[in-house]
Amino acid sequence: MPGTLFIVAAPSGAGKSSLVNALLARVPGVRLSISTTTRPPRPGESEGEHYHFVSPEAFERQAAAGAFLEYARVHGNFYGTSRAAVEPVLARGEDVLLEIDWQGARQVRAQMPDAVGIFILPPSRAELERRLRSRGQDSEEVIARRLAAACEEMSHYHEFDYVVVNEDFERAVDELRCIFLARRLRREAQAGRHAELIRALLAGE
Ligand code: GDP
Ligand code: ADP
Ligand code: 5GP
Repeated sequence: MPGTLFIVAAPSGAGKSSLVNALLARVPGVRLSISTTTRPPRPGESEGEHYHFVSPEAFERQAAAGAFLEYARVHGNFYGTSRAAVEPVLARGEDVLLEIDWQGARQVRAQMPDAVGIFILPPSRAELERRLRSRGQDSEEVIARRLAAACEEMSHYHEFDYVVVNEDFERAVDELRCIFLARRLRREAQAGRHAELIRALLAGE
């Protein structure tokens, strides 16, 4: 039984990375795909943990070699999802989570129509701006560029299956967790997981 691919998107500062980290600590059997990017690391970010940080030339080489399931230019940098971080993991039955933008989500959906899309919204524009600043890791110029891009990103929310509003953090994590659990309880998945139980029950054993 292959795993499920989950795609989480949001405007920058909505709390996507914080929510995903909290979710991974609570839901076993989900692997986060570490993206490759040409963006420089923020203070505290490390190679292979948050991203694979590469030069534009190296990114282009990998793209040309077909190493990416999807890639896109976001806020002036390139970001891509490695096939190697997704395909073998799904094949061995684990779920994979992608934190990517709407352009990447579209490319993935075209190749994997069963992927589950989740869009995170901030509770207000003012709060989105406050969170972008409070993170304290981006320059004013970068913050302004990300705020300007927020409406464009959010205008694609309807391409996703689920929407979570990240106002109260704990509540938002719990809602995310429910989406994962509900997906795993679908009949198709349960029939595979409990094939022997179902066979025995229906045989009257
Ligand atoms: P964040 O907004 O704080 O998460 O800032 P990042 O610099 O980590 O990410 C910037 C944008 O790139 C976000 O919109 C992400 O969704 C997007 N992004 C990150 N990784 C990928 C990826 O592998 N592929 C694509 N297409 N987009 C990505
Ligand atoms: P993203 O990955 O979407 O850019 P982050 O996870 O980095 O967002 O969150 C942006 C900032 O907002 C961080 O400083 C984070 O601690 C804070 N934050 C996230 N969710 C909430 C919330 N529900 N209430 C208040 N602050 C939050
Ligand atoms: P940041 O630079 O703040 O880490 O990320 C900015 C944006 O890039 C986020 O909204 C994130 O979702 C997006 N992003 C990160 N990795 C990828 C990726 O691999 N592919 C795509 N398409 N977008 C990504």
